[in-house]
Amino acid sequence: MCGTENEAADPAPNDAHPGQNNSTASSIMYQRVDDYISNVSRYKIIESTLREGDQFINSFFTTEIKCKIATMLSNFGVDYIEVTSPASSPQSFEDCKTICKLGLKSKILTHVRCNMEDAKKAVECGVDGVDLVIGTSSLLRQYSHGKSMEIIQKSALEVIEYVKSQGIEVRFSSEDSFRSDLVDLLTLYKAVDKAGVVSCDIETHFHDDTGCAVANAITALEAGASLVDTSVLGIGERNGITPLGALMARMVVTSPEYTKSKYNLKLLREIDEYVASVVQVNIPFNNPITGFCAFTHKAGIHAKAAILANPSTYEIIDPALFGLTRYVSFSSRITGWNAVKSRVEQLGYNLSDDQIKEITAMIKQLGDVRPLAVEDADSVIHSYHLNQQEKKAT
Ligand SMILES: [Zn+2]
Repeated sequence: MCGTENEAADPAPNDAHPGQNNSTASSIMYQRVDDYISNVSRYKIIESTLREGDQFINSFFTTEIKCKIATMLSNFGVDYIEVTSPASSPQSFEDCKTICKLGLKSKILTHVRCNMEDAKKAVECGVDGVDLVIGTSSLLRQYSHGKSMEIIQKSALEVIEYVKSQGIEVRFSSEDSFRSDLVDLLTLYKAVDKAGVVSCDIETHFHDDTGCAVANAITALEAGASLVDTSVLGIGERNGITPLGALMARMVVTSPEYTKSKYNLKLLREIDEYVASVVQVNIPFNNPITGFCAFTHKAGIHAKAAILANPSTYEIIDPALFGLTRYVSFSSRITGWNAVKSRVEQLGYNLSDDQIKEITAMIKQLGDVRPLAVEDADSVIHSYHLNQQEKKAT
């Protein structure tokens, strides 16, 4: 990215591997080699819900929705918000201008084809940065734009010079890079590097076709990339890209101090829920952080550890970091008396441990016959309690 400092040179401590700065010879021997180039503790997010997410099959973002999503993402703390190319349609052009005028903390980027006409439209909108994209694999060159590598290089340099001359950040990206010829790719990047573009930061963009988008993103950061493209719930072309929430789940574990201080994690649920509602999907049950069972415990031994001992025995992430709470199920045949005890206390009943163990046995008996709802287990507790009251009264 042009005009930004070289983030990789930042001497900020890497908090990815706690305990490693123990200076004994043996610990030095076991340091991971990727620590020297890793950016896991200084990564930045390019949030692309309003560009990649606009390509999701269900998306139709009105100006009002776009402004609301952009504002939420800026409050969350993402570094950049990427919006649909103003060359896509007249309304996309107007929306890009409107978002630029919101005065958000996040910088606004747009993603355009690498040609002068598109670049000029982006500049006209008042964006902070422009991402130029061109397909470089033989497949895309043959079936998408039909340009040779020589023509790609020439027009890239012209467009880069123009955008830079307008005092705007420029990013250059080759689409389908991993299927492009390596020599072609390096020749092109060497040329645009001379124009002062790629020597700074490396941005990455991973689709989730094989379920590896988050893994690819963290591996890229470990290998020295510093920017990850995300979208809320991962929405995008096909089944989308690295989801913002899943990346946060990973990074709050890998790089806790940086992630907690930089991003307003408690806003994640509201953002996931809002975007899910406007694109008319449910948040998947197993979604990291915001899926309905992300912090649920069912088995008796899990519940015991979660309630009585230390929740981190079974939880990698503390739900409180995201303003959420764990839920301990007590209505099944695999429940344990600790979970039932917690429910009895919630209901405000005063019963002894032995009595609670009796109730647990009754719930398990019923749970062996059929699935139980919360109300079923509750009614076992209520009637047991009522019985006790009646016994006392007589
Ligand atoms: Zn994409």
